[in-house]
Amino acid sequence: MRSTMQDVPLSIATIVRYGTTAHGDREVVTCTADGVRRATYAEVGRRSAQLAHALRDLGIEGDQRVATFMWNNQEHLEAYLAVPSMGAVLHTLNVRLFPDQLAYIADHAQDKVVLVDGSVLPLLAKILPKLDSIEHIVVNGPADLAVLEGAAAQVHSWEELIAGRPEEFDWVDLDERDAAAMCYTSGTTGNPKGVVYSHRSIYLHSMQVCMGDGFSLTAADRVLAVVPMFHAMAWGLPYAALMVGSTLLMPDRFLTPEPLAAFIAAERPTLAGAVPTVWTGLLAQLQAHPSDVSTLRQVVIGGSACPPALMEGFDALGIRVIHAWGMTEISPLGSVGHVPPGVTGDEEWRYRLSQGRLVASVQARLVGPDGSVLPHDGVAVGEVEVRGPWVTASYYRDQDPDRFDDGWLRTGDVGSITPDSFLNLTDRAKDVIKSGGEWISSMELENALMSHPAVAEASVVGVPDERWGERPLATVVVKEGHTVGIEELREHLSGQVASWQLPERWAFIDEVPKTSVGKFDKKVLRQRYAEGTLDVRTTAPIR
Ligand code: AMP
Repeated sequence: MRSTMQDVPLSIATIVRYGTTAHGDREVVTCTADGVRRATYAEVGRRSAQLAHALRDLGIEGDQRVATFMWNNQEHLEAYLAVPSMGAVLHTLNVRLFPDQLAYIADHAQDKVVLVDGSVLPLLAKILPKLDSIEHIVVNGPADLAVLEGAAAQVHSWEELIAGRPEEFDWVDLDERDAAAMCYTSGTTGNPKGVVYSHRSIYLHSMQVCMGDGFSLTAADRVLAVVPMFHAMAWGLPYAALMVGSTLLMPDRFLTPEPLAAFIAAERPTLAGAVPTVWTGLLAQLQAHPSDVSTLRQVVIGGSACPPALMEGFDALGIRVIHAWGMTEISPLGSVGHVPPGVTGDEEWRYRLSQGRLVASVQARLVGPDGSVLPHDGVAVGEVEVRGPWVTASYYRDQDPDRFDDGWLRTGDVGSITPDSFLNLTDRAKDVIKSGGEWISSMELENALMSHPAVAEASVVGVPDERWGERPLATVVVKEGHTVGIEELREHLSGQVASWQLPERWAFIDEVPKTSVGKFDKKVLRQRYAEGTLDVRTTAPIR
């Protein structure tokens, strides 16, 4: 029997039409060098329509790619609404990538127009000679246009380009499976790979973000999107906010702890999302210079494992941390760490420190090294594979087909799953340290090290060892004003991990190198070790 339900496509245009009218009085607030800028969703809707008209006039048709090279701000939101809703494909470029990677990505995606913040125009200008496909550059805000001298592409001012254009656009209702947006993975090995989201996947994912067991967004929320709109679509927060009428607070390029704390005190967010390194910096700032953060009901931490010390630090300030796991390939939401009702004490901590419960639409299986599917018993450890309506089925132009296994995406993450669907990751497959045939979790060692009061950050990588194959090298950043030695740190670890897992190679460093999205860059650490540029001290080898 066929259902009698209407077959109405799930589209971003629907979110735009609804969000900019039903929630037309809600606001997007953007941080600037001298205060904030405010606009209502109704205004953003009108400006998005003008942008769409302008892009049509520049020749954007069908599924052509419109790239953004922008921080989180009002105009980036307008691009998020306009580009997919006019039928084109929004491609968010990561402003922190190396020039060669950016050039590779823009060429691979064949971007035709790039919308760029004036503040990052010099970065774009550097790679422009390599971007053959770009025909138009649209510049947002004040900029030094001299850096574009000699550019083959035509240059336009955002405001001049949209001025006087109609404030309504006949948003296109496409097939819901058509491409809406794309984002390249921030992986540290090989070339970045493209993930192409559909209108349907974004729509369904936005609903999940709003759900109670997602980030539980409502019109009463003021959402601080610290996670960049070029990193996994800012975790879906922009579209979700439009869907339910949450206010969006956009920090633009002001992402260091001091301005962030001031933005929080002034704009009173109820919810915020970012990777652990951002929160580590903010926590230190708030501890040193307390300011009013009492409105924050929930801070979502994801993108890397949340160190327990970070969660405890925010708890002490009365802010609830929710741990979430995801990937660019999963739109990105996979699991969220809401504790089941009635759970308290140590058990509550176990739940909170896990990567969270897999959401209803993301199915997962664990696969052992021999390819066997392992039970979800909280004990068996294997690679996590996932599938679902917002999980990519391939990479753009079929890069890396080996990452797909019979309809499942190989996440490259290793861990266990409990019978009640909580995910506990132990490592990235490539970061697991294989010592004498046994696995050592770099994540576990890092969390244990970062629970020492003198440790600001710690990253552990496997390095070659003649006898054991591989052994852990601990790199440690000591907090300002503190001192700590190797023996004390080994002592601190010995209560938490087995003695054969204790690192005997140590390096004290000023800062852990970070990737373009703020994660620990272990590739750089391994490289520094191989080149001999780390000041490595050793303790007695294990027997
Ligand atoms: P990206 O696509 O850049 O967001 O990176 C996705 C990867 O980040 C995942 O495959 C994980 O390895 C890692 N990741 C994301 N969230 C977490 C988390 N909560 N705990 C540990 N690793 C995480």
